Amino acid sequence: MNNRLIFATTNEGKMKEIRMILKDLNYEIVSMKEAGIFIDIVEDGSTFEENAVIKAKTIMEMTGEMVLADDSGLEVDAMGKAPGIYSARFLGEDTSYEIKNNYILEQLKDLPEEKRSARFVCAIACAYPGGEVVTTRATIEGFIGHEIIGDNGFGYDPIFWVPEYGCTSAQLSTEIKNKISHRGKALESMKDIIKKKLK
Ligand code: IMP
Repeated sequence: MNNRLIFATTNEGKMKEIRMILKDLNYEIVSMKEAGIFIDIVEDGSTFEENAVIKAKTIMEMTGEMVLADDSGLEVDAMGKAPGIYSARFLGEDTSYEIKNNYILEQLKDLPEEKRSARFVCAIACAYPGGEVVTTRATIEGFIGHEIIGDNGFGYDPIFWVPEYGCTSAQLSTEIKNKISHRGKALESMKDIIKKKLK
């Protein structure tokens, strides 16, 4: 395989998921670390797409290679779509997800089901050498539950109720979560775009 693309993340969990989804592209997918890039990118965009584009373009300009990047988060409607693009930094970068999740449960504690709607959002950007940039976005719709349930997944998964499966996303297997998740769906659409471009 001569072709490779860099995925602008330092998260090994995401790399595993991404390699699985993109395996039929016939591209070697390398992380920033594997590409020898060790920089902190300031994500100062105001949307998921802007942040994904900032990451992909920065690394493409450094390397001259094709680069993919993602940005994702949780939108809780009753909290004005917070934490949104600040999901990782919500209540402080080093605050545990037990605290973050309990805070959200507390904010919504007296609200009936119809006011507990929420979604995970993911934007993916692909920066091609030469300057062209394309983005995709996907969501998974659900509700904020009433307690922390489940050990799979990460982040806000234990409070995110997935109505189709009657459980939280922290109770889904990795295979099912990849198939229905915001990140899985946004990556699948990006894969289709890249495939067409490479034809
Ligand atoms: P980033 O896309 O790496 O900037 O991460 C965004 C943040 O959104 C994560 O740190 C989590 O807090 C949250 N998040 C994104 N996707 C998921 C998910 O699938 N489950 C739970 N939390 C998520």
